[in-house]
Amino acid sequence: MKRVILYVLYISLLAGCGAPAAGSGEEPETVQLIAMDTVMTFAAYGDRAAEAVVQAAEEMERMERILSRTLPNSEVARLNAVGSAHTGPEVQRLAEASSHYREATGGAFDITVAPVVSAWGFTTDSFQVPSDAELAKLLPLVDGSAVRVDESGTVTLGPGQSIDLGGIAKGYASDLTAALYASAGIERGKAELGGNVLAWGTRPDGKPWRVGIKDPARPDDGNAFAGIVELEDSVAITSGGYQRFFEENGTRYHHIIDPSTGYPAESGLTSVTVVAKADGSGTRLNGAMCDAYSTALFIMGEDRALDFWRTHQARTDYEDAFDLVLVTEDGRVVVTAGLSDRFEPSEDSGYVYETAS
Ligand code: AMP
Ligand code: MG
Repeated sequence: MKRVILYVLYISLLAGCGAPAAGSGEEPETVQLIAMDTVMTFAAYGDRAAEAVVQAAEEMERMERILSRTLPNSEVARLNAVGSAHTGPEVQRLAEASSHYREATGGAFDITVAPVVSAWGFTTDSFQVPSDAELAKLLPLVDGSAVRVDESGTVTLGPGQSIDLGGIAKGYASDLTAALYASAGIERGKAELGGNVLAWGTRPDGKPWRVGIKDPARPDDGNAFAGIVELEDSVAITSGGYQRFFEENGTRYHHIIDPSTGYPAESGLTSVTVVAKADGSGTRLNGAMCDAYSTALFIMGEDRALDFWRTHQARTDYEDAFDLVLVTEDGRVVVTAGLSDRFEPSEDSGYVYETAS
């Protein structure tokens, strides 16, 4: 643990050395670390930037120690082992939020999918295709409606259940980063948590941050994008089968599990990006919301995802509003209307671009 923090501080100091003094407004302070199985990069500008990025990195490590289900002493691992436990505010909040997102998505997002994710080997990297008999045994355990959070902060799962916060944790991490940047008075910065981005304020030149949406068909090419979105004070969270998968007998199996079948979702989408305003006040979990929805809408497919977007736009206030970029297996990129003037198609990508309203 200590070693990792030292490493983080070291990187930060290095970044500070060669660059113009922090606070000049031109060069960011940056920290990179690996947490939650993801390369995370934090960048911030301003007087307290160095302090803020180190704090953000430390916060990620703290979150991992709480939310991971593979670290044996994490709160989630303990809860999964005993079925009912008093947890800290983070697990309570995410369990409650997850119930809400499960209901909103008709069960597509369900953290009790954990035993099925494990059966496919995604938890331990020992990948395998589970037998139909094993899936039939595990599927009845997938039912997020059995998860309870009581007033004393005790989280209780249904018999035999366990939870996996992998579909929401990085979005939540972007919420925590926004809150931390806000309280440190950081006016501009960026956090990249795998494919998930917090674009905080604007770039130093006052223009919006340019956030690339990876081309799911060319995941190994760092310069291949399905498009660019221009964002300020926003989060952009992407789910895609290309992010984690294995192959067996020529078939590709990815990590986003359809709770209704126990199999990796096959909905005709190759990636879903959900974009919403970032909230630095710590009140709204817009990053967690985008993360849960990106996972769920990937499972639901284009038509249901667009219906979900339409219903949601019609019924909620701006704070909760979100927009989508869907990439389809048949070579289209569908951008919802609220984002279309901030979206730049990628030339030569071969995609056909559409706007949904
Ligand atoms: P994401 O990358 O946000 O789409 O999340 C994928 C991760 O969420 C997987 O690696 C699993 O840990 C977990 N997961 C898989 N399927 C689901 C699901 N249907 N609902 C909630 N979490 C899921
Ligand atoms: Mg997600």
